[in-house]
Amino acid sequence: MQQDAYGKSNSDKTAQPPLKVLVVEDEDNIVELIKLGLRYEGFHVEAISDGSQGLAMAQRLDPDMVILDLGLQPGGIDGLEVCRQLRTNPTTQDIPILMLTARDAAQDKVLGLETGADDYLTKPFSFEELVARIRAILRRQRRATGALRGDGTNGNENQILQFGDLRLNMATREVTRGGRQIELTATEYNLLHLFMSHPRQVLDRQTILNRVWGYDFLGVRILPVAHA
Ligand code: CA
Repeated sequence: MQQDAYGKSNSDKTAQPPLKVLVVEDEDNIVELIKLGLRYEGFHVEAISDGSQGLAMAQRLDPDMVILDLGLQPGGIDGLEVCRQLRTNPTTQDIPILMLTARDAAQDKVLGLETGADDYLTKPFSFEELVARIRAILRRQRRATGALRGDGTNGNENQILQFGDLRLNMATREVTRGGRQIELTATEYNLLHLFMSHPRQVLDRQTILNRVWGYDFLGVRILPVAHA
């Protein structure tokens, strides 16, 4: 069951335009991974490395979500300032923001969230987790605004993947087989989620590594401390 950007399977896909995601990130390898992956998932993706240009692009593109790196290149404005300005501009203040950070310190996350980010993801992250966070943010926004679906449902039916007697709940990350709960590690869950998202498809090794273990398996794990 291939899913589109709305989390719907192809079988119930309607004529909705692709969701637009703007990526503001200065690390090319991460940008390429996000672009390739999200386009495969059915999103329209634009990317920019500079904070000021990112702000201008957010106004022009009116994206459904901004993925924003906290540590952009020195010399420009950083991710926190981009976040602040997005939130204070009436044109962009309602756009959900997923912040990427290489910093694992709790205070950075709190600061990011206080500045207006809807969620954050610490590098290195797996692609599956990125997509899960994006979908969760979009679902929350959909419930809050009812803008994307006019049918009054909350989208819960899109959070369940089923294959035979295996049932995976993407919202709670619970897996059951024949009604009995199965305990899985995070990696086991991510693998199962990937396979259940692509039933009866052959997935090559690189795809599995990239999507479950993240961009560090591209063999280009670069996390420069100076502007990470
Ligand atoms: Ca960076």
